[in-house]
Amino acid sequence: MSKLYNIKNWTRQNLWAWMVENAETQSKMQAFRADQIFYWLYQQKVESFAEMLNISQEIRKMLEEHFWISSMKIAESQKSQDGSIKYRLLLEDGYSIECVFMPHTNHNTVCVSSQVGCGMGCDFCMTGTMGLVRNLKTAEIIDQILTVWGDLPDEQNLRNIVFMGMGEPFHNYKNLLQALEILTDKHGFNFSQRRITVSTSGLLPKIRRFGKERIKTNLAISLNGVTDDVRSKLMPINKAYNLEELIKVCREFPLESRRRITFEYILIRNLTDSIEDAKGLIRLLHGLKFKINLIPFNSTPISKYQVPSPEQARKFQKYLLDHGVVAPIRISKGQDIQGACGQLVVGAKT
Ligand code: SAH
Ligand code: SF4
Repeated sequence: MSKLYNIKNWTRQNLWAWMVENAETQSKMQAFRADQIFYWLYQQKVESFAEMLNISQEIRKMLEEHFWISSMKIAESQKSQDGSIKYRLLLEDGYSIECVFMPHTNHNTVCVSSQVGCGMGCDFCMTGTMGLVRNLKTAEIIDQILTVWGDLPDEQNLRNIVFMGMGEPFHNYKNLLQALEILTDKHGFNFSQRRITVSTSGLLPKIRRFGKERIKTNLAISLNGVTDDVRSKLMPINKAYNLEELIKVCREFPLESRRRITFEYILIRNLTDSIEDAKGLIRLLHGLKFKINLIPFNSTPISKYQVPSPEQARKFQKYLLDHGVVAPIRISKGQDIQGACGQLVVGAKT
C-alpha cells in the first residue's frame, strides 16, 4: 500500500482518533501508542518507525503502511558574525523557505516561516515583494524547527520560537494552529506557550479567533505607523482594517495575567521616527497592556525608505521610556547575511 500520510501533519488527537478507527485493540491502548509515537518523533527526534523501540512490530508495520516521516534538506546556510544562522530549506515541491537561528546564552530562538512568500504586500518588506506562493503545511512548519535543532551542537537546545519569518501566519491559520498544538503538546516538543510568539500584520478576524483558542501563545502585532495615512502607505492591510478597529480588537483580546501584547514598530527615517510619532504611539496604545519592539528599518535592495539615525532611534526610545513604556530597540540579528527582519526572500523552485 502506498504511504499516504505525512505523520507530522497530524496532531496527537488526530493520530489517536485514526488509530482507534484503524487498529483493533482498545482505544485506551491507542491513546498510549499515540503518546509514544509523539515521544519518538518530537522528543527523541527519530526519522524512522524502526527506531521507535518500545512500539510493537505489528504497530510499526501498520504505521509504515499508512504513514511516512518527512525531513527537510538544508540547501544553504550562512553564519553571521553575531552567531545567528540563516538557513535556506528545501521543500518537497522544489520551493524553498528561510528560517533563522538566533543564539542567546540560555534561550536560543528560532524564527520560522509560515508561507512561501507573503500576500500582504507591505511596502518595506522584501518577502512581500514575492507575493504569496503557497501556505506551508503543518509538517513543513514542524520540520523547520527539527532541522535547525538537528544542526545545533549536542548540548544546545531551542527555547523560543517566533513566527516572524516569511509569511503571514494568520493567513495559514489551520496549519499554524496544528503546528502550535504539536509544539506545545506535553508528549510532543513540550514547548511552553509563553515561549512561542506569533506575529501578525493585523488580520482582525483571525486575531479575534486566536484569542478564543485553547493554546495561548504570545501575540505580536506589526504596527509600524501611528496614523492611518502612514500605516496604509506601509501596510495595505490597514485599508481593510484600520487602526481604530485594530486597537479595539487588541483591547478585547483576552490576556492572561502578566502577559502583554507586543507591538512591533519599524523606525523609518523621516516617516515614523519623530517624537510626534512617539507621542502618537503612546496615545494610540493608552490603556492596553503592551510592550513595544522598536525595529530600525533594515535596508533592502529595492527599498525606497531610509534607515533612521542611531541618535534619532535613541531619542524615540527615550521618549517612550520616560513615559513608562517598555521599548527595547531590536537590532536585527544577521544583518550581514540578509537574515534580518524583512530581508527574507527566496522561494523560486530550484
Ligand atoms: N508577517 C508577519 C510576521 C513576519 S514579518 C508580520 O508582519 O507580523 C516580521 C517583522 O519584520 C514584522 O514586524 C515586520 O514589520 C518586520 N519587517 C519587515 N520588513 C522589515 C524591514 N525591511 N526592516 C525592519 N523590519 C521589517
Ligand atoms: Fe508579509 Fe509580514 Fe512582510 Fe508584511 S511584514 S509583507 S505581513 S511578511
